[in-house]
Amino acid sequence: MGLIVQKYGGSSVADAEGLKRVASRIVATKKAGHQVAVVVSAMGDTTDGLIELAEQVSPMPNGRELDMLLTAGERISMALLAMAIGNLGHEARSFTGSQAGVLTTSAHGKARIIDVKPGRIVEALNDGAIAIVAGFQGVNQDTNDVTTLGRGGSDTTAVALAAALEADVCEIYTDVDGVYTADPRIVPTARKLNSVTYEEMLELAASGAKVLHLRCVEYARRYDLPIHVRSSFSNLEGTWVVKDHPEGANMEQAIISGVAHDKSEAKITIVGVPDRTGVAARIFQTIADTDINIDMIVQNVSAASTGLTDISFTLPKSDGLEATTILKAIQGEIGFHSLQYDDQIGKLSLVGAGMRSHPGVTATFFACLAEAGLNIEMISTSEIRISVIVREIDLEKGVKAAHTAFNLDGEDEAIVYSGTGR
Ligand code: ADP
Ligand code: ASP
Ligand code: MG
Repeated sequence: MGLIVQKYGGSSVADAEGLKRVASRIVATKKAGHQVAVVVSAMGDTTDGLIELAEQVSPMPNGRELDMLLTAGERISMALLAMAIGNLGHEARSFTGSQAGVLTTSAHGKARIIDVKPGRIVEALNDGAIAIVAGFQGVNQDTNDVTTLGRGGSDTTAVALAAALEADVCEIYTDVDGVYTADPRIVPTARKLNSVTYEEMLELAASGAKVLHLRCVEYARRYDLPIHVRSSFSNLEGTWVVKDHPEGANMEQAIISGVAHDKSEAKITIVGVPDRTGVAARIFQTIADTDINIDMIVQNVSAASTGLTDISFTLPKSDGLEATTILKAIQGEIGFHSLQYDDQIGKLSLVGAGMRSHPGVTATFFACLAEAGLNIEMISTSEIRISVIVREIDLEKGVKAAHTAFNLDGEDEAIVYSGTGR
């Protein structure tokens, strides 16, 4: 008998039928002799719907109130799921993030988990009940306000809870059969990976492969907690996210584990920046002070005649308005010419530990993009990743080209069971 944490995403609990199907899966796990704690997301596209509603009443909704609104989505699904389990003759108790002891920073919309004190969950499990926890939310102890962890954050709730409960495994149930070599919605011939290391998954998640939330992978690595990503619509074995590939499992381990894409970023270019010591520090400190995460940065060589340079960087589109506003506020002090904002960009990344020992990956990548007619606007690399910025309309073409160029295409068509992929 073990302790299992299961997380069900929005597409798995999109309607009453979905909730009942998930309830039977949970009960089956319980009947097999395990203690089960479940983390659940809001039903279907509920979160998107709530955000749209908020924007209809205010173009820039207040962070505290937006979090209050969005946390309601997970409250609905957790209570309904507990009822569905009850209807199958098993006791289930639902808990909000706050009740489950998920303590976070105060940054509304992108709070980080500081600690999990799952006293009430342990109590429920010890009483023989199934505990259902609302994903994506927590509470800040200084303000006593509820917070959300950022889009897709229920994965992180699940892994953080699993770590706090010292669970044997965290199962993430979604609408595809595991982690694939690319998003199966874009590349139908993508192949399911049997295993992926924390290191590779971190890069994939950071590069936009939203099948797992980035911070959940960070958490799992810190606690060396295995994650099993699988579908709630099938009984197939999914993908294991672990420290090392199981021995012999990947004899033919490809150089590249996957291609990821991201349409959620925008690019800001600060034109005519005086090329002086301390200027870049001032610009990026100003942005960091507002909790905005910057991704790629490029600074051009300054023209000797003018002593001016251009700095471009990418950031989440959702932070674009705030970033341009604060930069305009320091324009006089820094003395740059102007700002350009471009939200029609896409990021394409190639991830694989094999890159370390295989020179030529970059050359093949750039050649296949050139052949597909894509212009590369920015480049960044890590030891096991290459990312480029291209036009957003070209992104999917680039993903397919890279997937084929690195021989990642499989024989069968990947199944996407449900969901809109929003
Ligand atoms: P959930 O609602 O269950 O959290 P998400 O929509 O957040 O589900 O994540 C699952 C989706 O992630 C899939 O439907 C797929 O479109 C997308 N995805 C992106 N990259 C990958 C990948 N490499 N492997 C599998 N799925 C991916
Ligand atoms: N419901 C939230 C979202 O749509 C959290 C999650 O699904 O993980 O982003
Ligand atoms: Mg998700």
